[in-house]
Amino acid sequence: MDSLAAPQDRLVEQLLSPRTQAQRRLKDIDKQYVGFATLPNQVHRKSVKKGFDFTLMVAGESGLGKSTLVHSLFLTDLYKDRKLLSAEERISQTVEILKHTVDIEEKGVKLKLTIVDTPGFGDAVNNSECWKPITDYVDQQFEQYFRDESGLNRKNIQDNRVHCCLYFISPFGHGLRPVDVGFMKALHEKVNIVPLIAKADCLVPSEIRKLKERIREEIDKFGIHVYQFPECDSDEDEDFKQQDRELKESAPFAVIGSNTVVEAKGQRVRGRLYPWGIVEVENQAHCDFVKLRNMLIRTHMHDLKDVTCDVHYENYRAHCIQQMTSKLTQDSRMESPIPTLPLPTPDAETEKLIRMKDEELRRMQEMLQKMKQQMQDQ
Ligand code: GDP
Repeated sequence: MDSLAAPQDRLVEQLLSPRTQAQRRLKDIDKQYVGFATLPNQVHRKSVKKGFDFTLMVAGESGLGKSTLVHSLFLTDLYKDRKLLSAEERISQTVEILKHTVDIEEKGVKLKLTIVDTPGFGDAVNNSECWKPITDYVDQQFEQYFRDESGLNRKNIQDNRVHCCLYFISPFGHGLRPVDVGFMKALHEKVNIVPLIAKADCLVPSEIRKLKERIREEIDKFGIHVYQFPECDSDEDEDFKQQDRELKESAPFAVIGSNTVVEAKGQRVRGRLYPWGIVEVENQAHCDFVKLRNMLIRTHMHDLKDVTCDVHYENYRAHCIQQMTSKLTQDSRMESPIPTLPLPTPDAETEKLIRMKDEELRRMQEMLQKMKQQMQDQ
């Protein structure tokens, strides 16, 4: 376009202020496009302005490194005021639910992160049903959301539903313990469970491989539905597909946490310093911490929220509506003095219509038959 403009026009264009030049360019663009290509930018701007929220639950026996891992993941110490209980106190203690919320900001993007901790889980002498307070908590959040959604102020609902649960499995056993199976089975239809092998630095690579295999087999055997990473789109580039394959093959992630920064090969890294060497949290040869962090924060946070909303919450909502409807039917039967007949279901209605049409067809066929007979008789 510029090359076709007359020399004096080009001179005028150069003399204009940069702002007017930009406005003119925008007008030219306006002539060529309808403009909906800017939709992703509008969505992006609105989401960034609103900020994001994410609720992560951590569960597993105490001492498996849950708080250390949360610190390593979000570089925020949420457990400053934590009071550790003595063995005696722990025997009588029941499972508690503690919520910590922090606002994190990175490059202008705000994230309201809520960590739901479950101290006391698996600490009792008898651990049967010790997951009950946790399932109750998850259900209460769904219930609150359901109420808010049916209320007047639907626009400003505070979403406290649990989007993901990191479940810590001990590295010292030979696979899942009964309490692990019980917990996951009680929660797998309510929340996205991501199982983790805790304190992976206690095992050598071959032991980690074996333990992972064993856990995968047991998850299958007991029919536990842990969070499934979504299928990778076929048009993604090869690097992304490779990363996705590696991510799926690494589950359950073997993780290491540390609250300290140490010096390794001249570099300051987050790690654990032992007399025989340093284990680096972010070194992919040492553990799957980076894979977990990337999955949780960089690649799958949105999917975890979608699955919570579209699958787990929808299940809860459908169940609630079903219960409410059957209660209403029961109540109306009890209140009505005349015994209520079962209402025709859409199926019964359709069947009635089909029968009527069949009858009509049969009559027409009879009539045709009679007419044919009359013609033959003549
Ligand atoms: P929580 O009770 O599950 O929250 O466990 P903590 O995070 O308080 O950790 C309990 C102990 O284990 C602390 O002494 C931590 O320093 C240590 N720890 C945490 N993460 C790891 C890890 O990945 N490897 C090893 N070897 N120790 C860890």
